[in-house]
Amino acid sequence: MEICLLGTGTAIPIEQHSPSGLIVRAGGKCLLFDIGPGTLGRLHLANVDCGQIDHLLLTHLHPDHTLDLATLLLVFNYAPNAERKADFPITGCRGLQDFIKRMVDLYPEVAPLSFELQLHEVHQDEFLIGEVRLRSAPTGHTADSVAFRVDDGTHSMVYSGDASPRGELARLAEGADVLVSECSFPSGWTTGDHLNADTVGEIAQNAQVKSLVIVHTYPPALIVDLVGQIRKHYEGQVQVGVDGLRLTV
Ligand SMILES: [Zn+2]
Ligand SMILES: [Zn+2]
Repeated sequence: MEICLLGTGTAIPIEQHSPSGLIVRAGGKCLLFDIGPGTLGRLHLANVDCGQIDHLLLTHLHPDHTLDLATLLLVFNYAPNAERKADFPITGCRGLQDFIKRMVDLYPEVAPLSFELQLHEVHQDEFLIGEVRLRSAPTGHTADSVAFRVDDGTHSMVYSGDASPRGELARLAEGADVLVSECSFPSGWTTGDHLNADTVGEIAQNAQVKSLVIVHTYPPALIVDLVGQIRKHYEGQVQVGVDGLRLTV
């Protein structure tokens, strides 16, 4: 299983920490998780052609995780000699169907011309993409936000999306090879709808994940020893992700 972090930040512009997006290649499938602003440009930098994406998965519908979806659909419609013909499956949190409908109302030119969208809403669910097993679980960041787990039969990864300490992330991530998790803020920061260095460390420790990669860092989290703060709670490997980082699980 191969993971490429495309965007490891929030909406706030910071070098090497762009808005959310990551690619997972597993079981012969190319899965794109979240598609924040600028994701298409970073796919290009990672040598991934838009046409290679088999499935898009959306953790929630905030702009820093979804804004480039309109751009992607525009490319699928109008890329010269490369219009998408295959159905495009999108699996996302509850509210996805209405979100897409409103996006097409706003931007009529992104309504698919030569392909169909397959939309699937999930909350606490289990499903297959090819031979790859996916699970979703609520994270409590919004009423509908979910995290995803990918199991290819040998290895496993979990992507938190945005998460709160009240969600099901630790249970979903149990024993995973890698947890790519948001850590919006440093240790001690009060936040109800995000994780900080303490809560993400506790989740990784409770889940006994083998390694932890931090994404979705706000500027205050990048001027402290975030890894050191997390290590006070979590005994496994931990690193702060940057745009373009590739991991083999
Ligand atoms: Zn969010
Ligand atoms: Zn976010």
